[in-house]
Amino acid sequence: SRTYLITGAASGIGEATVALLRSQGHTVIGADLKDSDIAADLSTAEGRAELVARARELTGSRLDAVISCAGIAHFDPLTIKVNHFGAVATLDGLRPLLAAGTAPRALVIGSVDSVHPTDPAIVDAALADDEEAAVEASRAAVDRGEGHLVYSSSKAAISRWIRRCAVTEDWAGAGIPLNAVGPGVIITPMTQPLLDDPDMLRLVEQSVPMPLHGHARPEQIAPLIAWLTSPENTHVTGQVVFVDGGADAVLRGDRT
Ligand code: NAD
Repeated sequence: SRTYLITGAASGIGEATVALLRSQGHTVIGADLKDSDIAADLSTAEGRAELVARARELTGSRLDAVISCAGIAHFDPLTIKVNHFGAVATLDGLRPLLAAGTAPRALVIGSVDSVHPTDPAIVDAALADDEEAAVEASRAAVDRGEGHLVYSSSKAAISRWIRRCAVTEDWAGAGIPLNAVGPGVIITPMTQPLLDDPDMLRLVEQSVPMPLHGHARPEQIAPLIAWLTSPENTHVTGQVVFVDGGADAVLRGDRT
């Protein structure tokens, strides 16, 4: 059996993944704002440090897989802090524990929103690891009425970060596949209020069309997350695997 650490473990996709891995006999340490093994706010430096310190205590500094699910979809600078910088802090912070693990694997939840329009100022600042500038650019987007770009930009940034890092000495060189899963619309506490509102539902269906099987439940995405972070995955790395009922194929068409 393996030892996993999952952020965003208290709800939605994270919660379903915890349940699946535990049902397979694995040890799973959850982290979230509350209601989890580790309480940590990944939007803050203190919370990020707390995550790593507690993970070390609970695991003897050895992890086999890290899955970063914590995320928010607010039209607010907090979204770039949690979705990009919180995920980077999780993956980078726990990488030494993975290096000590067996068949180590890492994964972050991106989004099909990463193929939507983004704000280059936010994405570039995030990829330059400049949190202050990314927050400033996010605030500017909100101020000009384009707060939705903060979310798509956060997911584009973390997807590009994965691609860049996956092939470096730190990850590929250490034998650690690093991937993202890009969901379409999954029915979770994050999306349920939108899906319950007929006007918002129409908007969601327009921006994330899912011709195959409609909106998904978290249980339908957890098996792919489990496989990508299992020892069976030896060669998939640097990928954003969309689980989106065809949304990416519709939105990007022939552009590969
Ligand atoms: P959710 O709201 O059910 O779960 C997210 C969890 O992250 C919550 O438990 C929340 O407390 C935690 N979290 C939020 N901010 C945090 C912080 N600062 N520190 C620590 N934990 C924090 O949402 P979900 O739908 O399960 O989303 C999980 C991931 O999947 C997110 O990254 C989200 O962006 C992504 N995603 C979701 C969908 C969807 O349709 N639901 C689509 C694409 C991507």
